[in-house]
Amino acid sequence: MSENVFITEETIEGAEDGPLSGQTVAVKDNISTAGVRTTCGSEMLEEYVPPYDATAVSRLKEAGATIVGKANMDEFGMGTTTETSHFGATENPIAPGHVPGGSSGGSAAAVAAGEADLALGSDTGGSIRCPAAFCGVVGIKPTYGLVSRYGLVAYGNSLEQIGPFANSVEDAAALLDVIAGDDEHDATTRELPLENGASYADAATGDVDGLTIGVPTELLEGADEGVVETFWDAIANLEDQGAEYHEVSLPSVEHAVEAYYVIAMSEASSNLARFDGVRYGHDTDAEGNWNETFAQARKEGFGDEVKRRILLGTYALSAGYHDKYYKKAQDARAWVKQDFDEALEEADVLASPTMPVPPFERGESLEDPLQMYLADANTVPVNLADLPAVSVPAGETDDLPVGLQLVGPAFGEERLVRTASALE
Ligand code: GLN
Repeated sequence: MSENVFITEETIEGAEDGPLSGQTVAVKDNISTAGVRTTCGSEMLEEYVPPYDATAVSRLKEAGATIVGKANMDEFGMGTTTETSHFGATENPIAPGHVPGGSSGGSAAAVAAGEADLALGSDTGGSIRCPAAFCGVVGIKPTYGLVSRYGLVAYGNSLEQIGPFANSVEDAAALLDVIAGDDEHDATTRELPLENGASYADAATGDVDGLTIGVPTELLEGADEGVVETFWDAIANLEDQGAEYHEVSLPSVEHAVEAYYVIAMSEASSNLARFDGVRYGHDTDAEGNWNETFAQARKEGFGDEVKRRILLGTYALSAGYHDKYYKKAQDARAWVKQDFDEALEEADVLASPTMPVPPFERGESLEDPLQMYLADANTVPVNLADLPAVSVPAGETDDLPVGLQLVGPAFGEERLVRTASALE
């Protein structure tokens, strides 16, 4: 058993048959499971047992899957290494001594270690793609609105989606088939954009003949040399199979990390306000007025990274600073979206390294949060633009896994599945 893959190991049986019968699934611990505690990796929710299933979980059960446990994660999804979890860090099962990536590190590690066939994670700014890349598995971040967020404990609700992990593109796509589609409990979902009878899994044909790939030069700048080399080898492989590539420019992405962190922290400061020890969360013995009791519960229940983000987010939204930070970040978001739309008019998909670096050594990134935020440079622009992306294993550098990220137009998941499967 790998270290700290699960926060809670508990079997939840699904229906007798269905498309996923016989398959085991790890579920990230910010996705609600009725009757099974859902901690978000936080002391705040150490004893929280949801009264209902997330829509993604009910669909897993209906599809016949067996849930084998609630996977470890950075506290409330805030991190890139799964080291901010209150329940201890997860080790990378295929690169010992290194982090599995985050925030869905337990989910990716479960699949990489063979402790589950499949897993669900959530991706606010890269939290599916980063751990997929670092653990050498496939991860899909769906278009905003393809998968219901009902029952996903919110961090940055305008950015995040639940999505699948698997050892192959086809299996990840089959899991996406189960969880995708409109849900009356989430008004941001829409009807499945698939033709009658088609499925995402069927799209894993590996056919890239005639496909055009745009490579945004900005997403290669400053990346590790070995990562860049592995990336170009993968592009050459796609060229050999009949795809063509050209370089494209996304000038706005220079501002994406700043914009992402302002928006994500602002939303987090509001979303996490409900954890006060009364409505939700950690109970405290503190005596005093309600202000003092709330403050004590939040002081005890939240870790450092979560507190940092609540403070910064509250600041960015406060009167007098709102226009300077939050509004500016929204303008940058619109610019990023426009850049992607333009690039995708001239290319079928965009490709880059998923992460600019190979997996960090354990403990390396905790001292310097800013360094950690910068590692999200290639993933966060996609969430700002609401687009779908996949991370697929591209090879190794110095025995460490490298992931290739493919980004497609909104609701273009079939195209991503087809392209990614050509690299297997
Ligand atoms: N690393 C990013 C963050 O900390 C992304 C996290 C995520 O996608 N949940 O916000």
